[in-house]
Amino acid sequence: MQPLFPYPLPTVVPMLDGVSGFPVRRIFCVGRNYAEHAREMGASDQAQGLEPPFFFTKPADALVAGGGELSVAYPPRTANLHHEIEMVVALGAGGANLTVDAAKSLILGYGVGLDLTRRDLQARAKEKGHPWDMSKGFDQSAVCGPLATVAEVGHPAAGTIALLVNGEIRQDGDLAEMMWKVPQIVAELSALVRLAAGDLIYTGTPAGVGPLQRGDRLEGTVAGLPPLRARIV
Ligand code: MN
Repeated sequence: MQPLFPYPLPTVVPMLDGVSGFPVRRIFCVGRNYAEHAREMGASDQAQGLEPPFFFTKPADALVAGGGELSVAYPPRTANLHHEIEMVVALGAGGANLTVDAAKSLILGYGVGLDLTRRDLQARAKEKGHPWDMSKGFDQSAVCGPLATVAEVGHPAAGTIALLVNGEIRQDGDLAEMMWKVPQIVAELSALVRLAAGDLIYTGTPAGVGPLQRGDRLEGTVAGLPPLRARIV
């Protein structure tokens, strides 16, 4: 069949080597994966660690990716755009119903990302039991810096995860605080959907989420990974 218009091209995340690119298939995100952040979002202490991780998605074309300073548009219909600094897992292969070891072996690399959130719309959705799509999956809601391969950085499981806004520390946590570890997250997700090469998984944010304004300059760091730099425009 003749396509009526050109097939949309996938968003590509540049690799640290500056030569190759990672074509994105799907974007998954884990909610409340750091205890301190779960508390700041109103979770009770009892709930922590007991429940399986929960997931939401963003459209692949919601992604803004690259090295250098990325321009991210302040979205419409919100007065409370929040930053969430997260480590991003990039899959180089796929599968379903994986063991934790098999899940770990799918990982091609890691990057530093932002799960941008219209917190006001999310609060309203929670209150009414509505879906999160428009609070989490809007245009340019997923930001990702260059990806480093497992060969380059191993599997980061401890070390600083931090976000500076205009030079001031807003979020400052440690990967070791993750309630669900990366291989467990991938295994759990693979029991819900079949994973494939090109999938990105945002692994949750430490405490300190807060509002952004137009003009803000962001620098996200995760120990050992190429930093993410972005400006809200
Ligand atoms: Mn998040």
